[in-house]
Amino acid sequence: MHSLLEHIKELFMKIAVVGTGYVGLVTGTCFAETGNYVTCVDINEEKIKLMKSGKVPIYEPGLEDLFLRNTTEGRLTFTTNLKEGIKDAKVIFLALPTPPGEDGSADLKYILQVANDLGPLLESYTVIIDKSTVPVGTSELVKNAISKNAKVDFDVVSNPEFLREGVAVEDFMKPDRVVIGTESESAKEVLTKLYAPLVRQGNPIIFMDERSAEMTKYAANAFLATKITFMNEIANLCELVGANVDDIRRGIGTDSRIGKRFLFAGIGYGGSCFPKDVQALAKTSEENNYQFHILDSVMKVNESQKTKLLPQIVQHFNSDLKGKKIAIWGLAFKPYTDDIREAPALYNIEALLELGCEVHVYDPEAMPNVETILGDKITYCKSPYETISDADALMIVTEWPQFRTPDFEKMESLLKNKVIFDGRNLYELPQMRELGYTYYSIGRAVVK
Ligand code: NAD
Repeated sequence: MHSLLEHIKELFMKIAVVGTGYVGLVTGTCFAETGNYVTCVDINEEKIKLMKSGKVPIYEPGLEDLFLRNTTEGRLTFTTNLKEGIKDAKVIFLALPTPPGEDGSADLKYILQVANDLGPLLESYTVIIDKSTVPVGTSELVKNAISKNAKVDFDVVSNPEFLREGVAVEDFMKPDRVVIGTESESAKEVLTKLYAPLVRQGNPIIFMDERSAEMTKYAANAFLATKITFMNEIANLCELVGANVDDIRRGIGTDSRIGKRFLFAGIGYGGSCFPKDVQALAKTSEENNYQFHILDSVMKVNESQKTKLLPQIVQHFNSDLKGKKIAIWGLAFKPYTDDIREAPALYNIEALLELGCEVHVYDPEAMPNVETILGDKITYCKSPYETISDADALMIVTEWPQFRTPDFEKMESLLKNKVIFDGRNLYELPQMRELGYTYYSIGRAVVK
């Protein structure tokens, strides 16, 4: 007979999460919220110190509340020591970076390093779960790396993560689906129990083999990147034929086979996932002697889309941009995050600086991250309005909600010229016409 305490211990697992970034910290915090005891491990000492002092190192809506509750109640702890972090853990998540290597393939050095280190540290049957986005076949590599020095049984499971930065907590707590790649019945049992609180509304746990799970993640991201890129190309064509991409979006999005989401045209996708995952999938194709034509086009189109407004800026100012003050609203690769990895804003700022512009920027969350890269090359402002004071033009790069309904009268009094280059189509054309702005956007007529 189980004692009550043993029963409780079984219900609430001891979990370790190795790698405490956007995915690892959300995973750890959310599993602590569902009652488990979670230790987050990271090699970044500063980050661990910060978290130990009760601070969340990233901006993610809703995360801080959960973080504080679970750290205060002792279910969420942090360490830089792998051995200490995984002690008694029944489940170990790997949420480590898989950045593009020099040839575009995913660099597995972080994952394989941890896998090597884990082998001798395992003390009893453990389920090791790969949450990072990794090429097909990685779970076998991880298995081999661990088994070199392991003295106990273990399973390696592929459990790709689909959360979106900016709504990561919500996505994690209410996932559309959970994909689990394993053929081990013991691992399936452990994971079914762990995920049970998150799938109570009938959202499915989909079991498959490891390779298919690894591939599912790449297929999802490559599909979404393709959908965005397709719409961006439609937008580019709209400009040439005099059609309005917003009308096209409404016209096709209502078709249930197409769906309304991911149809917004703009100045390209960025972030830490789509660019690297499309590249890595293309590399996997190449390694298997298959040329994935669509992916090649998606990468090429997105690259040029990111700086799509620049020729219009150059033309608008008759190629004389030296000393022109350009205000930029939005730096993060998308709203509700401070993540600037592969952010279109960075590409545009770099190009504007090269053209001799003075760049003034505002973003509600991402400015400290940009400052670590660009330092004093640009000016960081305290508000959207401070940014446009005496500016020759405003460029909008990220669709933060606060930019959607600005005080146009105030803007008029601050801007030197009433010119907006909008990479996210935030405003309606008739409105801009009425307000007397010169307004460039994506896939729509220029308002002059
Ligand atoms: P991240 O860079 O934010 O975090 C990774 C963390 O791992 C960092 O804190 C780093 O210090 C730590 N780390 C590196 N080496 C380590 C080691 N040896 N031991 C312990 N910690 C170590 O990365 P992320 O955005 O959380 O992404 C992690 C993985 O999840 C990637 O494969 C990514 O593609 C995938 N993913 C990311 C997202 C997203 O939106 N960010 C969504 C789904 C999947």
